Amino acid sequence: MERMTAPTGRRRVLLAAPRGYCAGVDRAVIAVEKALEQYGPPIYVRHEIVHNKYVVQTLERKGAIFVEETSEVPPGEIVIFSAHGVAPEVHREAERGRLASIDATCPLVTKVHKEAVRYAREDYDILLIGHEGHEEVIGTSGEAPEHIQLVDGPQDVANVQVRDPDRVVWLSQTTLSVDETMETVDGLKQRFPNLLSPPSDDICYATQNRQTAIKQVAAGSELVLVVGSRNSSNSNRMVEVALGAGADAAYLVDNASEIDESWLEGVTTVGLSSGASVPEVLVEEVLAWLTERGWADVELVQPVAEHIQFSLPKELRRDLRAEAAARAAAG
Ligand code: SF4
Repeated sequence: MERMTAPTGRRRVLLAAPRGYCAGVDRAVIAVEKALEQYGPPIYVRHEIVHNKYVVQTLERKGAIFVEETSEVPPGEIVIFSAHGVAPEVHREAERGRLASIDATCPLVTKVHKEAVRYAREDYDILLIGHEGHEEVIGTSGEAPEHIQLVDGPQDVANVQVRDPDRVVWLSQTTLSVDETMETVDGLKQRFPNLLSPPSDDICYATQNRQTAIKQVAAGSELVLVVGSRNSSNSNRMVEVALGAGADAAYLVDNASEIDESWLEGVTTVGLSSGASVPEVLVEEVLAWLTERGWADVELVQPVAEHIQFSLPKELRRDLRAEAAARAAAG
């Protein structure tokens, strides 16, 4: 791909937009913060609320306790489920443990859960395109374990076995590479020509928008930096998309301290973006790091605008409303 070059020798940063927090992550983080204010610490959170080390550590300092399993939460306490969603069995565990749960599952993940339930009820074999072991995949699979099988990329297509090739539907994890997923779907369609597609995209708007922006940025950059944690699916996919779109090199960094100065040798244009679970302060630190080294000129590359917001989990809204009403009544 031909690169959009900078005027000779001018060091610059191409800053992608949209980047960073998506509506689902924003909602999940605010849910933990509001719960800490409303009920006081500790508030237990099952798994990392979002896949970002900085966010998790900041919430821990405020009194959140992150646990791997619901069984680790003492009876009667409050537990928040992360943006990635949980299987129905986890809700039942919370009830058995007499826990008050707040479900911060992103509404776009809930949509995929509902699709899984519906197609299982209609007795389809459901081919869930996603990454083995990812929390979202575990949660979605738990909705209909006997109907769902995982397809972990194009190389997995040959392994799929179904009961009836005319009653098969594909769904996907929300944070995959759009292009790779379509390659997997094409492979599945060759094997099962009557394969049904979900009613709307499962790969969410935020993943798609961040990939569109990083593609454009990568086409004009020798080096691309994506701020994000190693366990963040959508941040990892952005690095792959940047390399596929023409960047000579692309790295995932948790923060500015992880950038290796040698990556900048011979580089004029640095592309920069961040995954959907990354707070903007971490991008600002990278921009400051680059400015100190001569990359002070920042150009915004924004192929698409984003305005989506989600309301807080219903359990929290109910309690916040009740408290506001009690305060108003008290005068
Ligand atoms: S990446 Fe998409 S699905 Fe995941 S939390 Fe954000 S908006 Fe929701």
